[in-house]
Amino acid sequence: MDNYTAPAEALKGKVILVTGAGDGIGRCAALTYARYGATVILLGKTVKKLEAVYDEIVAAGGAEPAIVPLDLKGATASHYKDMATTIEREFGKLDGILHNAGLLGVLSPFEHINLASWQDIMQINVTGAMLMTQALMPVLKKAPAASVVFTSSGVGRTGRAYWGPYAVSKFATEGLMQVMADEYAGSSIRVNCINPGATRTAMRAKAYPGEDPMSLKTPEDLMWLYLYLMTDASIAENGKSLDAQPK
Ligand code: NDP
Repeated sequence: MDNYTAPAEALKGKVILVTGAGDGIGRCAALTYARYGATVILLGKTVKKLEAVYDEIVAAGGAEPAIVPLDLKGATASHYKDMATTIEREFGKLDGILHNAGLLGVLSPFEHINLASWQDIMQINVTGAMLMTQALMPVLKKAPAASVVFTSSGVGRTGRAYWGPYAVSKFATEGLMQVMADEYAGSSIRVNCINPGATRTAMRAKAYPGEDPMSLKTPEDLMWLYLYLMTDASIAENGKSLDAQPK
């Protein structure tokens, strides 16, 4: 599966929701999914960024996307239920969710962890993704084969000094993926995690301000795995934590 190459139109007819679709890895994934034929639902906080991705998809001849402006920090179960109702009405089914939106927060020693920041990170990285997935289960079940992909991190597998709430939120993400994968094993829904690895984005620059961004892989370099998990080639994958930059 390493360096999977998707056939053209591998995602034709599929409806895929991407969170954090306005920037970084999510932006690249949304453009890639559209290029391979999917109708993409672009969810994010900053509407201008989502509109720019929308325009780029339409200009490239992709299927017309949908925009869902939503701040995961304040969103409640009822926002997600409304979203599910709209997706059901507009598209009738949902073939995939890429949970990509994430908040890094501030790296700091354990004794300096701030409760409000801890709660924001948990809300955006874990609780929001959980509530969204729960609300979307009925539309995921309407797809013949649906793929739920969570975004993890190296620090979600081995803890690292100063990465506090972000690292803990990624451990929780891995846990949620494993619980769901076990629960839905044998169903039409598969659940996996991607660890992107060090990637040239705004988040990485914030975590490593002294690093030369040109030394890093770009979001485009990771897309083989992001595509693989959304195409029917990955139908048998469930409960896996996969690396977009395998060693
Ligand atoms: P970016 O910071 O570049 O992009 C994050 C995206 O998430 C943005 O589109 C942002 O929207 C969105 N987002 C943040 N907060 C919210 C919110 N409250 N509500 C809705 N959307 C929100 O990050 P990356 O592309 O680097 O990261 C993508 C994922 O990959 C994250 O889950 C991250 O933890 C993970 N990851 C990244 C690595 C890397 O090296 N880059 C390494 C390991 C994991 P907006 O632009 O509007 O703020």
